[in-house]
Amino acid sequence: MNAEEFKKNAHMIVDWIAEYFEQIEKYPVKSQAAPGDILKRLPRAIPIRGEKFERIFSDFEKIIMPGITHWQSPNFFAYFPANNSFASILGEMLTAALGAQCMSWATSPAAAELEESVMGLLAGLIGLPEGFCGVIEDTASTSTLCAVLSAREKHSDYSINADGFAKKAVFTAYCSREAHSSIEKAVKIAGIGKNNLRLVACDKNYAMDPQALNAAIEKDVRAGLRPLFCAAALGTTGSTAIDPIRAIGNICKKYGVWLHIDAAYAGSALILPEMRHLADGVELADSFVFNPHKWLFTNFDCSAYFVKDKGALIRTFEILPEYLKTGEKSPVNNYRDWGIQLGRRFRALKLWFVLRSFGASGLQKLVRKHIDLARYFAGAISAERGFEIMAPRPLSVVCFRYRPQAARGDDSKTDRFNELLLEKLNATGKLYMTHTRLGGKFVIRMAIGQTRTEKRHVKAAIGMIVKMAREMEMTAG
Ligand SMILES: *Cc1c(COP(=O)(O)O)cnc(C)c1O
Repeated sequence: MNAEEFKKNAHMIVDWIAEYFEQIEKYPVKSQAAPGDILKRLPRAIPIRGEKFERIFSDFEKIIMPGITHWQSPNFFAYFPANNSFASILGEMLTAALGAQCMSWATSPAAAELEESVMGLLAGLIGLPEGFCGVIEDTASTSTLCAVLSAREKHSDYSINADGFAKKAVFTAYCSREAHSSIEKAVKIAGIGKNNLRLVACDKNYAMDPQALNAAIEKDVRAGLRPLFCAAALGTTGSTAIDPIRAIGNICKKYGVWLHIDAAYAGSALILPEMRHLADGVELADSFVFNPHKWLFTNFDCSAYFVKDKGALIRTFEILPEYLKTGEKSPVNNYRDWGIQLGRRFRALKLWFVLRSFGASGLQKLVRKHIDLARYFAGAISAERGFEIMAPRPLSVVCFRYRPQAARGDDSKTDRFNELLLEKLNATGKLYMTHTRLGGKFVIRMAIGQTRTEKRHVKAAIGMIVKMAREMEMTAG
């Protein structure tokens, strides 16, 4: 493809993207493809001679598109959103075009300095107290792993990096029963051991019970173990429960435990002054992660990791082989030393485009709208006979279920009804929701956070959910 052909194809694709967003509601939100459907239609071999782009693109439309779940659909209410925006897409295009490896300052000074600047702006936008320093990682999973590794090194005087685990104390880690699986994964990878991760009990709102945390730490101390790391959730994945950060933070301080805040989804809500109270006590944390790629209109991937002791982070990851030595005189940020990857994408660019293009008030308006829509949904669905809300709704996720009369309070029958209800709703292709279990019960999650979701989409969803539940109940008997 030469430059002329590139221009022609690129213009065509930009038009296609704009139209995709105009027509996105026409696609089934959840791909209706069955396992193997796509694979069997794909070409079996790489062509010997290069193909015309028209042909490749036509296969993209015919074969790939039917296997896409439309995460940007305004009727996407599953998991958490991974929303994007035109500003972000444009930034991503330029990142791909520049193709810079942003491992050190010297490999692209603007990338390093923009990342430093943007992370400072972002910290201000979410109201993080002074003293936190930010870096962009690919995902919250990676950010959390960086936190566990930094805690491990700081608390072992950087000796595990040097000598491995031989004759080291047994470390323990803590998170609530509702914490994200990435905590367990990080604890496993960091060599702490899954069996040394304590799953602390929650209160009736699915938030960590600090007294239970305190008891677990004390028990471990008495047993001669070394409490190392605690992850508090600012917005659990199941129900967006908010762990009491100040109480947890005070306990962590008492025992010298590294406090990491996992705000992967809910961190974006902190751009709203009226939501800052959720993060009360955040100054007690050692590290904090949230994903602009979830709820801040920045296309995947972009995870914002903030750490207080930047020195501990860098000492954990620093490497300096001869071929990476550069000769700057004044201190610069070499982000390869701030995490796991050496090569890094220029992610700061799209985030910068988003922050400038929306402006603080533009971002606040959208996030606030999502929270308002969730409040509206919760009110409307709970006013319908048989529906109940299953957890508090601090933000934009509503956990609910239907209680069919025929189940007569039998939870397993109610579970089965809701599983089927969810399946049937998703099969319509008109909306997409997912589920979780809370207190053992199957609940449907309505997560509202798509860039283009309006009240009419939420209203339509309520209509469909209620109608489907009534129909199912009638036919069942
Ligand atoms: C989504 C989520 C994660 C994982 O995010 P990735 O960026 O996909 O690794 C971690 N913690 C919580 C609370 C989440 O909601």
